[in-house]
Amino acid sequence: MNKPAIPTQRLPELLRRMPKAELHIHIEGSLEPELIFEMARRNGVAIPYASVEELRRAYAFTNLQSFLDIYYAGASVLITERDFFDMAWAYLEKARGDNVVRAEIFFDPQTHTARGVEMETVINGLHRACEKAQTDLGVSASLILCFLRHLSEEEAFETLEQALPWRDKFIGVGLDSSEVGHPPEKFARVFARCRELGLHLVAHAGEEGPPAYVWTALDLLKVERVDHGVQSSKDPQLMRRLAQDRIPLTVCPLSNLKLCVFPKLQDHNLRQLLDAGLMATVNSDDPAYFGGYVNDNFLQTFEATGLSAQQAWQLANNSFEASFIPAQEKRKYREKLDEVFAEFGA
Ligand SMILES: [Zn+2]
Repeated sequence: MNKPAIPTQRLPELLRRMPKAELHIHIEGSLEPELIFEMARRNGVAIPYASVEELRRAYAFTNLQSFLDIYYAGASVLITERDFFDMAWAYLEKARGDNVVRAEIFFDPQTHTARGVEMETVINGLHRACEKAQTDLGVSASLILCFLRHLSEEEAFETLEQALPWRDKFIGVGLDSSEVGHPPEKFARVFARCRELGLHLVAHAGEEGPPAYVWTALDLLKVERVDHGVQSSKDPQLMRRLAQDRIPLTVCPLSNLKLCVFPKLQDHNLRQLLDAGLMATVNSDDPAYFGGYVNDNFLQTFEATGLSAQQAWQLANNSFEASFIPAQEKRKYREKLDEVFAEFGA
């Protein structure tokens, strides 16, 4: 669909204003240092940083693992249902400010159950925030339970069993944490079980890992979306497969920059993915750690790579297409998207 010409100087405002879905956000990665310190205080948890500033200064990562080490330390302050609610609510308010109208939120139960927090505490706190977001903010939000891939498949099965009493409070499962050395096929059986249960399936693949991991995520895990997937551009046959099957990629440019997947934002391959006809979307991944929420990702990436208003529309439309909402809701959001673009073109 061709959009009316929009002057370049209005592009930042358009990126902020356009309605969008966020499909790759780890709720534990939205925990800002201020909230970490507040929760540490009220829960009496010791953290190895003297101040908010010192913690923020530690956010200089060299790769995925150096980030994960700090991320798990930050998550250790989450103890009560209120903590999980407060964390999700803080994200959802920011999402509303960025004109996110739909959020599909990852959570890592194993990070919490391993510390003795009950599954019920985690899921109920997060789910209550999602419900309140619908009524108070007009933001539709659902949860996706992620298995930690550095742990075993057996532990993933145990986590699934623990979560099944709250099956109505999450819509799917994902796979995250340290990618290299933990290929998707390690979790083929637990994903097959989740598929039988009617859960949506997604997995991180091709962030730092090779295109081969994207192939096995598709063919062995049978995922509906690939999280990151940016390494796919190294494999022309895989690029054709992703385009033909309209497999969405949830791309996170600032995360890729902070974890040194691309040396500079100017080098990011988002344009290449769009040009190849892939259903790419823009997301924040772990916004508290990577220097920006979803609109920061849009603004900085468009500034660095010179993407156009037409591509902004494509990315926002892709985010609705790729979401796990009914077709009539996708249509409703697309109409809102077109209204905003018409306003800017007038
Ligand atoms: Zn991620």
